[in-house]
Amino acid sequence: MSSRFSDAELLHYITTEETGVAEKLFAEARKVREEYYRTDVYFRGLIEFTNYCKNDCFYCGIRAGNQSIERYRLTLEQILNSCRVGDLLGYQTFVLQGGEDPYFTDERILEIVENIRKTYPDHAITLSIGERSRESYEAFFRAGANRYLLRHETANEEHYQKMHPRSMSLQNRKQCLYDLKDIGYQVGAGFMVGTPFQTQENLLEDLRFIEELQPHMVGIGPFIPQASTPFGSYPQGSFEQTLRMVALTRLLLPRALIPATTALGTISPEGRERGLMAGANVVMPNLSPKAVRKLYALYDNKICTGDEAAECRLCMEGRIRNFGFVPNMCRGDFKESRKINRKVEEVE
Ligand code: SF4
Repeated sequence: MSSRFSDAELLHYITTEETGVAEKLFAEARKVREEYYRTDVYFRGLIEFTNYCKNDCFYCGIRAGNQSIERYRLTLEQILNSCRVGDLLGYQTFVLQGGEDPYFTDERILEIVENIRKTYPDHAITLSIGERSRESYEAFFRAGANRYLLRHETANEEHYQKMHPRSMSLQNRKQCLYDLKDIGYQVGAGFMVGTPFQTQENLLEDLRFIEELQPHMVGIGPFIPQASTPFGSYPQGSFEQTLRMVALTRLLLPRALIPATTALGTISPEGRERGLMAGANVVMPNLSPKAVRKLYALYDNKICTGDEAAECRLCMEGRIRNFGFVPNMCRGDFKESRKINRKVEEVE
């Protein structure tokens, strides 16, 4: 596949410290974004339903080996109640996110998906529950799940091994992404910027991987250390470089749905807004019960852990409008053709 940029050009944008160059990149990314999505920002309601995980990723605060955090699981009833609150607030997408928690067997996930689908036949259901078998993914899809988020984290084998225990493999992760796409999910990949041992060439590989995979969604956040993990004393990723990766992703995948991540908002007070200014077009306010928000601590100092769902929604709306963007509560599906100045304009 031919790319808009050569490797040398991408590396230049990845590494540049020149403000003028970065600003031009962001402006170009905004222009491309507006051709497809105007100034709309899609809202997804995030439900973090378990912070148990059987894995031990070296960067993650809810890794199995972290004995210093309090663990929780939401009941089916609590999950459905979060959906009910979200629906009342106008959300049409629910994102169910959790660690790889063995308690949530395929049967339990199916029960959750089926219940949500029955109550909300027209809403989008997104799963973000890690690596499972192709058969499991197929069963969830048949039950009504539409989208799946699975960040690849790094597309470089050597780097992947430095960030994960031996029991995990990049090959399997990539296979999961290809399987999910093949099954028919709208698929989200993604990576962190500034993780320990990451090189500029690794970031280039991340961009080339998403070009190859062509995911519908791409989540990009800065690495933020969590004190009780093996990577707890490494420096956090660069805010500016993360924005540049968001902008480059927009330019390489013009129609992608790209969240302005909470991690961006955590390392800079207007981080999410700046993410939107660099080409992102999705936000994911939290719908989880307030009591458990702080416990889903993938990294330290995570923002928005003390607000009710309604407050989060209103806060995000205000922030977005301040920067000239328009909140859009529709499902915000990926569309094959949606350049807005084309004849067949799609209005949601
Ligand atoms: S990054 Fe995901 S798979 Fe790895 S430990 Fe954290 S929740 Fe588990």
